[in-house]
Amino acid sequence: MLIVQKYGGTSVGSIERIKAVAERVARTKRDGNDVVVVVSAMAGETDKLISYAREISPSPPDREMDLLLSSGERISAALTAIALNELGVKAVSFTGRQVGIITDKAHTKARIERITAERVEEALRKGFIPVIAGFQGITETSEVTTLGRGGSDLTAVAVSAALGADLCEIYTDVEGVFTTDPTIVPEARKLEKISYEEMLELASLGAKVLQTRSVEFAMKYSVPLVVRSSFSDKPGTLVVKEDRDMEKVVVSGVAYDKNQSKITILSVPDRPGIAARLFKSIADENIVVDMIVQNVSSDGKATDISFTVPKPDLQKAVGIVEEIVKELGAKGLSVDDGIAKVSIIGVGMKTHSGVAARMFETLASHGINIMMISTSEIKISCVIESKYTELAVRALHDAFGLSAQG
Ligand code: ADP
Ligand code: ASP
Ligand code: MG
Repeated sequence: MLIVQKYGGTSVGSIERIKAVAERVARTKRDGNDVVVVVSAMAGETDKLISYAREISPSPPDREMDLLLSSGERISAALTAIALNELGVKAVSFTGRQVGIITDKAHTKARIERITAERVEEALRKGFIPVIAGFQGITETSEVTTLGRGGSDLTAVAVSAALGADLCEIYTDVEGVFTTDPTIVPEARKLEKISYEEMLELASLGAKVLQTRSVEFAMKYSVPLVVRSSFSDKPGTLVVKEDRDMEKVVVSGVAYDKNQSKITILSVPDRPGIAARLFKSIADENIVVDMIVQNVSSDGKATDISFTVPKPDLQKAVGIVEEIVKELGAKGLSVDDGIAKVSIIGVGMKTHSGVAARMFETLASHGINIMMISTSEIKISCVIESKYTELAVRALHDAFGLSAQG
């Protein structure tokens, strides 16, 4: 088999951990498999580099951030290759550029356009284990880019698709995908398998165990994916195509996201084209707007528009909105940084009713106010005050029977 193994930050978080990773990789190779390794930066490294830059400038240029952040993964890739060689296993490390991971120009959240992977194939042919620095790529004009936070997952999935790997294993610090974040709800259960669709919702609603784009990519190219722990030999969670059994469970997971902020524009003229003008300008800056709430104006003249954006994009978004407030003659804008989004996810929602009512009742019975709501076929999300996040997640996890043995 050809197996791509991705090791996250905690899994390569120290020299001891890197040696343990090398042992596991060597074992997989000894078992008769071809192995390609993708590594993240050592735990905390990316955050440390970001904080260095912020100490110098409140808004460092995105291009420079990419060059800076890509260094974290280079360090762990080289160290892992050194550890493998020390075990007598031939290994060679590669940067994103050497692997031919070509991306668009959207610095700090670039999209992969194609992968050539020739050097990886050549290394495999010669019996080497390629160790790829995750999270990074290169534009057509040789600018270094990064793939968004958690982007090493995407490197692993994209490389798996490019090489036609038999399996992509994501090694992390928990034993798989759980009904909710096991670090805040100890009763959370590990799922044996989950559909791509549900995993996509869980990830995009905040469960950082897999990066959202990596799941999108895996679904599109049917990459067989498993999430498991680098600290044990337990089997982990398979991410697979939806099957009939899955619809029997109404809610299969609860997610939370504290990484959004809410912007409200006060008294915007109520006429056609306003929302289009606003959201076009924000999209042009590559900012992804999540929830939007606009009320009907009571007098037909003016209304408020609220929406959420990722916290790292808040300053940029406020800059754009301030211009538009002036241009449209709106009354002003307000920003709320203390929000969180809690969501329930399940393909079974398609065929069960009363799910939203139970969610709202559960939050109400804990005195938690709902500020925004959004729904899709397989999820319901509520924006609440961020100080209630853990309480809300635990309450919802209980209310939908996820803690019980099942
Ligand atoms: P890595 O560094 O290996 O990429 P991450 O920190 O990005 O690891 O992702 C793993 C973390 O995801 C876990 O430690 C856990 O706190 C968090 N997490 C959130 N939701 C879930 C979930 N539903 N199942 C498993 N882990 C989750
Ligand atoms: N090191 C990057 C981050 O912390 C990418 C990753 O870990 O996947 O976001
Ligand atoms: Mg991660």
